Amino acid sequence: MRELQLADCESGVEEVFSDISALATQCRYSDCQHQSEPGCAIQMALDASQIDQRRLSNYLKLMREQAHNGASLAEKRAKDRSLGRFYRSVQSEATLRKKGR
Ligand SMILES: [Zn+2]
Repeated sequence: MRELQLADCESGVEEVFSDISALATQCRYSDCQHQSEPGCAIQMALDASQIDQRRLSNYLKLMREQAHNGASLAEKRAKDRSLGRFYRSVQSEATLRKKGR
């Protein structure tokens, strides 16, 4: 349980799963999901019983959560930007209409 608590914070993930994150840097693709990608160093280590399946699933779960948090933040920013564009286009349309009459 102590491991999971440590892993709750982002820097803890790197520390607790340092062996797995070190392997992740050796994957063929930098955006490797470590599922069934060819040249995945983590899958190879798993096949060779160098890492534990359960620790790997914990690691992947944490990585997914982190990716999700990052994605929702980026999504929110993109939405704010497009909303700003929408307001501007509505404003300029209204200005054009006023000038036309
Ligand atoms: Zn991989």
